[in-house]
Amino acid sequence: SNPLIIQNLKKTYPTGKTALKTLTLAVESDIVFGLLGPNGAGKSTTISILTGLYEATKGKAYIAGYDLDTERDDVWRSVGICPQHDVLWDDLTCEEHLLFYARLKGIPKSEEHAVVEESLRTVALNGPFKKRLSKGLSGGEKRRLSIAIALVGKPKVVFLDEPTTGLDPEVRRLIWNIIQEARIGKTIILTSHSMEETEVLAQRVGIMSQGTLRCVGTPARLKSLY
Ligand code: ADP
Ligand code: ADP
Repeated sequence: SNPLIIQNLKKTYPTGKTALKTLTLAVESDIVFGLLGPNGAGKSTTISILTGLYEATKGKAYIAGYDLDTERDDVWRSVGICPQHDVLWDDLTCEEHLLFYARLKGIPKSEEHAVVEESLRTVALNGPFKKRLSKGLSGGEKRRLSIAIALVGKPKVVFLDEPTTGLDPEVRRLIWNIIQEARIGKTIILTSHSMEETEVLAQRVGIMSQGTLRCVGTPARLKSLY
């Protein structure tokens, strides 16, 4: 069955703001699903619920077959998150960041070095980068480290929240290549403000506005509509 299933998800914040009116979606494996929409559409709220940060007001979601309400630990081990803004520790090396997350994910000690190596290789931060402190990295390298963190332990569903915002075109392209390779064996949910980015990366795109999905289709089809 599909690694990501969302059924009638709804979120009203304690402020009274309904950020998600209703959201229903199923996404298959091995694809990048682009989530497009203006600020305030509900993209971050959706990701926050699916990664366990916020509770939904109503509705169900299943990640890798696990129920978000009743199997939260299994859901947590099945997802990876690259947040919009890098959350890194200045004085930890690239390798130390990944070891920390590998432990948090419950990767057995005997496997953690292989798991860390694989993530670093995927984002081309292996070799001499391993021992470098995050405070010495460029913006693009920091973003690659954040993506590596999201990929630790081969999660089934990976959320990349605007992964190339603020990066120059060359670094953007490098990160696009990394994402294309990383999608095998996973479902990648990528939020973006860029139609160009989703055209390059996504096999399917959903357009959100005002707390609901307006349409879902291939990038080519949605482009012809807008
Ligand atoms: P985005 O760039 O995804 O649109 P936002 O600016 O909407 O990001 O939100 C950034 C962070 O601030 C998110 O964690 C979001 O949940 C939080 N946030 C946004 N709006 C509010 C609000 N009205 N009250 C409290 N927190 C908010
Ligand atoms: P997007 O990521 O598409 O920009 P968000 O999910 O951040 O959209 O926001 C959807 C709506 O919910 C916005 O009106 C935002 O201000 C509001 N919102 C987001 N987070 C919070 C929060 N923690 N508390 C209250 N309102 C929020």
